[in-house]
Amino acid sequence: MMSGIFFVIAFIGLLISNVKYEAAKKKHSSKMLCPNCKSRNIKIRKEISGITRTGLSSYGSGMGVHTGVSNVNRQRIGVCQDCGYDYPYTSEADVKQAVASAKGAYYFWLVLTIIAAGVGIWFFLH
Ligand SMILES: [Zn+2]
Repeated sequence: MMSGIFFVIAFIGLLISNVKYEAAKKKHSSKMLCPNCKSRNIKIRKEISGITRTGLSSYGSGMGVHTGVSNVNRQRIGVCQDCGYDYPYTSEADVKQAVASAKGAYYFWLVLTIIAAGVGIWFFLH
């Protein structure tokens, strides 16, 4: 029963994205405080931690360029000016963005689950 498998996959996706969404909501932005020496003399710099390319975004035409750019992972690093210690810095905007994208994924799976359930019921009735 194909529609049943589709529903199970969509439902698992929904559960996973819900866990991720809840986790994203619990994230906090980092403090301007050195975890090593407790100094507040911190400078933030941006680092590209990696570029994730999906087939569609990197090899598409016009549209692909835009999605490709958004796939560049920029990681903020807090660098202590007193002891030189650096740590991953999460800004308020980063937290909001993470919550927004997790929410988007959650609603995507929710819609997919509803469609899968609808298809399943349709097959069941016909
Ligand atoms: Zn320090």
